[in-house]
Amino acid sequence: MAITPQPTDLPPAEPLTPKDPESLFAMAVDAVNRACDVLNAPDYVRAILGQPKNEFIFNFPVQLDDGHYKIFKGYRIQHNNILGPYKGGMRYHPEMSLDDGKALALWMTMKCALMRLPYGGAKGGVKVNPRELSVNELMRLTRRFTAALGETIGPDHDIPAPDVGTNSQIMDWMMDTYLNTHEGSERQALKHVVTGKSLPCGGSEGRDKATGQGIVYVLQELLPEFLINFEGMRFSLLGFGNVGAHTATVLESLGAKLVAVMDHTGGIRSQHADGFIRAKELADHVAKTGSIKGYDQSGLESIDSETFFRTPVDVFIPAAMERMITKQIAEWLDCKVLAEGGNGPCTPEADAIIAYRNIGHLPAILCNSGGVTVSYFEWVQNKAGVRWELDRVDAELKKVIVNAARRVRLAAQQFSIDMSTAAYVTAIDHINKAYIQRGIFP
Ligand code: GLU
Repeated sequence: MAITPQPTDLPPAEPLTPKDPESLFAMAVDAVNRACDVLNAPDYVRAILGQPKNEFIFNFPVQLDDGHYKIFKGYRIQHNNILGPYKGGMRYHPEMSLDDGKALALWMTMKCALMRLPYGGAKGGVKVNPRELSVNELMRLTRRFTAALGETIGPDHDIPAPDVGTNSQIMDWMMDTYLNTHEGSERQALKHVVTGKSLPCGGSEGRDKATGQGIVYVLQELLPEFLINFEGMRFSLLGFGNVGAHTATVLESLGAKLVAVMDHTGGIRSQHADGFIRAKELADHVAKTGSIKGYDQSGLESIDSETFFRTPVDVFIPAAMERMITKQIAEWLDCKVLAEGGNGPCTPEADAIIAYRNIGHLPAILCNSGGVTVSYFEWVQNKAGVRWELDRVDAELKKVIVNAARRVRLAAQQFSIDMSTAAYVTAIDHINKAYIQRGIFP
């Protein structure tokens, strides 16, 4: 009887594409390769994870309010679906690119695997500055983009969600457009094609704050190792969008103190060493005005970027764009722990300095996975036609993310590796097992 070769007997897969030092995707693939080395993962798993499965680019016209038409560029990158449907956000940002989308899609694969969600990873978006569009333009752009996506997305195939520059309103339009461009009387039951929707449109309790809430659960679980007391813990935030604002508000409600914040308009901090910024009030101000600029609270001072990063804190949380923490900034930091709120915030050079300076470094694929986890809960609720209360959402999120944090800590101890590599190891171990069990078709 002929013996079918097992995946481990296969010849090595094709080598990866040449490395571009500017590429965010190459940076993400490096992290995957480090973890594959630790796991001694088969070559073909490395090669599969080293490229997205599908990369789509759409150029589509939108009529602006002044009557002119403008062509926009949209993306959807489906990185991997061995564990389940593709899943990940849609970003509206002037710098959105194919390469960034590929890195962000890879990180979604890692997050879902690390959280043990039955999802693969994807990411997409449009190269646009949403602040420059009117509400109507934003709606037309979203509807046209969704129509262009067509069968690229689907409730059990690829499920978009909010990311930088998008929100529940945009998800509602996306869902509505998908439903209206599909046939059949059951189409109203397909709301789970998109997560992160508003509550009346099928969104979940707790989705808005989920990423911030998840960061807080991870910190509660892991900070004791760094001898930091949660009560009275002092922290600073780079970025005060959805992730930053919710992280700060939840931390404040638990007794932690926000000491300094910086966003695209500048930085502020408490003038006194033991003072603090009122996080909830700042979040209300940002919700109204769009930035921290003009926030008025006595005892605060405006600061430049260097002063912000040098401000002494227990925990520093970058919750902004990719690669903002450079080597120089890593040298300035005065914190015991850096908890990554945004995706890929540090350059590889910064990573090395942070490790050398013995700063605790909690990776984004662990810290910020609360968002996709509650997206999964939204999808499950939509599919089952049920609604969970907030306390159930929070309790389930806590279980999922704390278990992931424990798995990461265990892998770090077991292999004597840093937390970031341990997070990739934990994620890829799960994916690897799925590939070995299933084999490669045919
Ligand atoms: N955009 C978020 C992320 O980067 C959430 C993705 C989702 O909910 O699917 O994790």
